[in-house]
Parts: sequence; C-alpha cells; structure tokens
Amino acid sequence: MNADPLPSDAHVMPTYGRLPVALSHGQGCWVWDTTGRRLLDGLAGIAVNTLGHNHPRLVPALQEQIGKLIHTSNYYHSPLQSRLASKLCEISGLENVFFCNSGLEANEAALKIARKFGHDRGNTAPEILVFEGAFHGRSIATLSATANPKIQAGFGPLVPGFVRVPLNDVAAVEAAIAAHPNITAIFLETIQGEGGINPARVQFLQALRRVCDEHDLLLMLDEVQCGIGRTGKWFAHQWAGIKPDVMPLAKGLGSGVPIGAVVCGPRAAGVLKAGNHGTTFGGNPLAMRAGIETLTIMEEDGLLANAEAVGATLRGALSDGLAGEAGLVEIRGQGLMLGIELDRPAGVLLTQCLDAGLLISVTADRVVRLLPPLILTHDEAREIAARLVPLIKALLGQPKP
Ligand SMILES: *Cc1c(COP(=O)(O)O)cnc(C)c1O
Repeated sequence: MNADPLPSDAHVMPTYGRLPVALSHGQGCWVWDTTGRRLLDGLAGIAVNTLGHNHPRLVPALQEQIGKLIHTSNYYHSPLQSRLASKLCEISGLENVFFCNSGLEANEAALKIARKFGHDRGNTAPEILVFEGAFHGRSIATLSATANPKIQAGFGPLVPGFVRVPLNDVAAVEAAIAAHPNITAIFLETIQGEGGINPARVQFLQALRRVCDEHDLLLMLDEVQCGIGRTGKWFAHQWAGIKPDVMPLAKGLGSGVPIGAVVCGPRAAGVLKAGNHGTTFGGNPLAMRAGIETLTIMEEDGLLANAEAVGATLRGALSDGLAGEAGLVEIRGQGLMLGIELDRPAGVLLTQCLDAGLLISVTADRVVRLLPPLILTHDEAREIAARLVPLIKALLGQPKP
C-alpha cells in the first residue's frame, strides 16, 4: 500500500512508539504523508501549530528573520525579546518574562522561582503543592511534579519537596497547607492536558487565588498546553477572572518554532536576579519573531473568537454524533481543547483515525484528545467529527473489554 516506505528508525532512540505514517508537508489544517495522502490535523503537533501549516504571513516573516539573525546571546540587548515580553505582559496583565525553549524549561524556571521565593523569606526547605493527574514535563524536577507513575518509573530518586492533593478540592488544599508550613507555591495546569483534559473549576481557581493571597504563596498556572488562545481567551485562567503570580507557556506560542516563557506578576517578577538563571538558546531572535508574529496574526485574524466559536461547533457535532452512546463518559474542555472520555481504552482509535485521514491523540488511556490549529474553520470542525464519530461508535458498539 505504501508506495514510499516508512524511514528506518534504526538509529533513532526508540522513546516513541510511532504511528505508521511519515508526514511530508502541510497547508492550513491539512497535512500530506509521503505517499501523497491528505490528512486533517486535529492535533496541531500537540497544541503547537497555532496557525496551522505554511501560514501565508508567518512563513515569509520567519524567512526574513532567518536572513537577519537566528541567534545571538543573552549577553546582548534584544529588541525582539523586549517586544514579545511587552506583548505577553499586555495580554496577561503581568509584569515580566523569562524566555526559554520548551514547556519543561518554563516549568523548571517556575519551580526555581517558587524555591527562591521561599528562601528569600527564610524558608530553606520550600515545598510546592501539586495535583493528581498533573503533567509538567519530563526533566527530573518536572517529572517529580508530574503525577503519572509511568512517567516517573525508573528515574528515581525523585526531586523532593512536592506535596500532592486531588484537583478541585479546596478542603484538601487547605489541609495540605496547614500540615506543610513550608509550602511556598501552588502549581497546576489550568486545564490538565496529558491527564485527560481535566479543567480546574472556576470557583477552585478563585479559591486558590484567595488561599495564596492569605498565606503569601505563589499561584503558578502551567498554561503550556491550554494557553495562547486555545480556550477562546489568551489564557485559560482568564475565564475565572483571576491572575497567577507565575505562568509557564510554550507549545502554541511560536506556532511550531520551539519557544518557552515564564510570565511573572508583581510578587514573583523580582525573585530571580542576575546570575540566578540562564539559557543559551532562550529568547533567540528566530523564536521571538515567531512569538510576535503568532500573537499579532491571532489578534488581526480574531483567532480567540474563532477558537471559541469553532470549538462550539466541534463540541456540538461530537455531542450530537455521540448522543445516546452508553460508553461515552463525558466531553470536556473549552474552545479548541477538547477531550472525549470513553468507558474503555481508546488507543485503537489512533490508527483507525489515521486510516480515515485524521490526526488525533489519545491520553490517559480512555480520553480522545483534540487540539487542532486555531485557524480551524466550521467546516473543518464538522469534518473532524464526521471522521471521528463513526469510529468511536464502532468501538463503543463492541463488547466492553
Ligand atoms: C507539553 C507540556 C509540558 C512540557 O512541555 P515540553 O515542551 O514537552 O517540555 C509541560 N506542561 C504541560 C501542561 C504540557 O502540556
């Protein structure tokens, strides 16, 4: 069937069980494989390709930037860093930004800020409150903050100093803070991604903001996956009308160019001083230009409103299509960050969707996850549902394993 066989991965470290497809190029919300087959991109490289593929304004801007400067060093001033930092502060209402290259690096910086915040107050063994279902990355510190035992297995000893409680349980948070006076920060994803699209409820976020103010703690919201317009606001916590003290960002910020950022409000902005943290690549001109162009195009093309409106179409088409299915547990999420929880493992859908010309993800074993580009049209949203719904129905029509 494959005219063009899959490339040999003999010399690629096998950290991923890959699907049997090799992609060659893309346009908008569509990608083509090396055999010429066209697939609808319901995943955007895991919430990364905000503007889809081969965007007509992003690509020339990046080409121009490559011809000017790709990399300099943080030894020098950078006009592009200043511009992107100002823009991120404008849309978040926060105060300053540290740039890095990925989600785990942004979280690593947040964890350093939380510890230093404690040390600055005479707390030499600071602890950080984290949550069940959390995913924060795969470095030693961020996998220690992550909840999934599969991600931690084989990499102990874990970094100490994390206390874990259930999500959306204010009483558990208050009890943990009472029992652990060294806690300096509360750290969570505003909407858990890898954990199965589990939103922190609005009232819970508001309660955490209150608790942090009362106890002089930092509220650190990992918006690496749910931020940058995906839910229909710039940042998912803005639906709760609160502001975090520390907000790690990455995935969608560069529309495919690697970038990370940690954005800080007034209580955290002064914690790291010259010499406390650094990065070689972070804040490089190519990544900064990608961030600036992404945010500018999102604004000019109304992509926040699009994420909300097209997200509603997608969600509507999914819930109509799956209405009455006993094996459907719940459709969750916001805007173009949606999870469909089934009553059984959903991994078989990955190759079935591939055969139907659709890229998706399955996370937390039973949750089909959709994170399409924010340029998705209403027709493309209906097309995702048209390809996905029959496969889910067929799976749910089989005897439950
Ligand atoms: C993807 C993700 C990370 C890790 O980002 P990397 O760029 O893969 O290091 C951290 N937190 C959340 C919420 C994520 O979704």
